[in-house]
Amino acid sequence: MADAESRWADPVPLLPANRAPLAPEYSWPAGNKAAMFLSFDVDAESAWTAKDPARYGELVTMSFGGYEARVGTRKLLEMLREEGLRATFFITGWSVEAHPAMAEAIIRDGHEIGHHGFHHLMPMPDDPMLVEEVDRGLETLKRRLGVVPQGYRAPSGESCEELRVLLKERGLTYSSSWRDDVRPYRHVLADGRPGLIELPVTASYDDWLLGLSQRYSRHTIQTREAVLSIWQDELDETRDWGGMVTTVLHPQCSGRPMRLRLLREFLRYAKGFSDVWIATGEEIAADYAACESAEKGATA
Ligand SMILES: [Zn+2]
Repeated sequence: MADAESRWADPVPLLPANRAPLAPEYSWPAGNKAAMFLSFDVDAESAWTAKDPARYGELVTMSFGGYEARVGTRKLLEMLREEGLRATFFITGWSVEAHPAMAEAIIRDGHEIGHHGFHHLMPMPDDPMLVEEVDRGLETLKRRLGVVPQGYRAPSGESCEELRVLLKERGLTYSSSWRDDVRPYRHVLADGRPGLIELPVTASYDDWLLGLSQRYSRHTIQTREAVLSIWQDELDETRDWGGMVTTVLHPQCSGRPMRLRLLREFLRYAKGFSDVWIATGEEIAADYAACESAEKGATA
């Protein structure tokens, strides 16, 4: 009993964990009704070594991630070129070091590069690797690609207050990890200072949950009809709400032939709306910041 009681000795604060005000209502640019943040997470083998570096010796396990550099990313880039779309690629520092040609190809095609940690370690409170993951990722993107990223997506989609403060101190503009809205908003740090702009995500567009079948996953491959129905319904309703959807696609999943085909079909569906703004994170965050300053100017 004593143990059970001591776990709750520090009571959970009687406050919402996220104290940011509600997302402001403002119009999307160029008369658009809704937005789609088209983004990919490039983890390569670091998706599998993050939990245990010894897995690097498990070569078939590694090959799930290695597919990104050998085939998946290249095929996705081809498809995006054909469809005339720009996207954001959140990439781990490890992937850039191990697969520089893949990272350079993403840049050559004019896409945005975002920060996705170095070893893809899940950012947990009090984690001694937290600072190194951010700084080594930044250093690698700068040295290898000449990129100073504006955007950050948390590996395995976790975050904590130390990380929010660190990202702000390191000069990042936006984060895309939280699950609690359908429009962009600005974080408020625990000390009350403004934090990064959040471009929230939803599980509906995380292809990992819908289609990667491998030894550590409990998820099976879903059919084209199942995935398209989720993706289209989510977009249709979000468009009615005037919100944004954010894709969380992985080349080791959506770069597979059947998956790429259905992603192409979905992107054509989205393009079929003349009022859905398909954009990078940088563009959506810049628009948010401009509207925020206009609003401040108006109320000053
Ligand atoms: Zn990832």
